[in-house]
Amino acid sequence: MQYYDSSINKKLPQLVDYFKSGIGDENKNISHCILLWGADIKSQCALALEIARLLNCKESGEIDCDCINCRWIREQTHPSVKIYTRLDYKEASEGSDDDDGVTGGKKNINVAQAKGIISELTVTSDYHRVYIFCDRDEDGNLLPLNKINFPEVTSNALLKTFEEPPQNTTFIFLTNDKSDVISTVVSRAQSFFVSSKNEIVQNFELVGELLNNYWNIDRNNVLDFENALINLVNENGAVEVFEQMENYMCSLMQSVFNNKSLFQRLLKDLKSVETAKRQTTLTPPMNGTTICENLAFKMILG
Ligand SMILES: [Zn+2]
Repeated sequence: MQYYDSSINKKLPQLVDYFKSGIGDENKNISHCILLWGADIKSQCALALEIARLLNCKESGEIDCDCINCRWIREQTHPSVKIYTRLDYKEASEGSDDDDGVTGGKKNINVAQAKGIISELTVTSDYHRVYIFCDRDEDGNLLPLNKINFPEVTSNALLKTFEEPPQNTTFIFLTNDKSDVISTVVSRAQSFFVSSKNEIVQNFELVGELLNNYWNIDRNNVLDFENALINLVNENGAVEVFEQMENYMCSLMQSVFNNKSLFQRLLKDLKSVETAKRQTTLTPPMNGTTICENLAFKMILG
């Protein structure tokens, strides 16, 4: 089954950018325990593989990079990047070649698998190891983690490892809802809401480029931001652009609520966008360029 999907950059641009800038940071500024939640497990898995690619890329992480790590991850043959489900394990003691017989009735990621991971991690690796925990059916369709396929006894066996993993190791959990994963795991993980792909494409495709990492824009470049905003408004109408900006910010806020300062910044800017949207409905109407100018200055200069 092909789980890697390079179009994830377009489906979840703000999340990919978030991880890209964190991983690109000299301190590799992302959590080693990541919980993705939402209805769309396929997109979550594609995002997890993209995170694994960014962590392992020997170059600068470009989407079409041809380094050996990126190629392996695209082909899902990377030795240290694993999609880990209850079915991807054979009991050593049962020693049967009959996969269906062994795995067919297997209900969960068990303690033996947990111990396998712990012993794997005692060996140092040249790669950044990424374990993506989820479930799948016999046909390879991805399914979310829950307390049956990832039971408490297994998470408890791995808790210390999740808390203090060896260097260059990241765990990613895929689930529908945070309440489906044992709370001791959730409390150790950084959580990100992954909205379903259709929502994303419809809701803020116009403003994605403008708002990408806008909070890092230098104050001296406020006029560039303003001009780009004015162009968007002239081409698409003020209400449409401001609504998409709201969608972008709301969606990003759900993803970054662990990052308090960014969350506060988005909350503040969201109010400025709401003000701008209200100003477009005044009678007599307020000048569109003035609205954009005020908004750009509030967002970039604070
Ligand atoms: Zn690469």
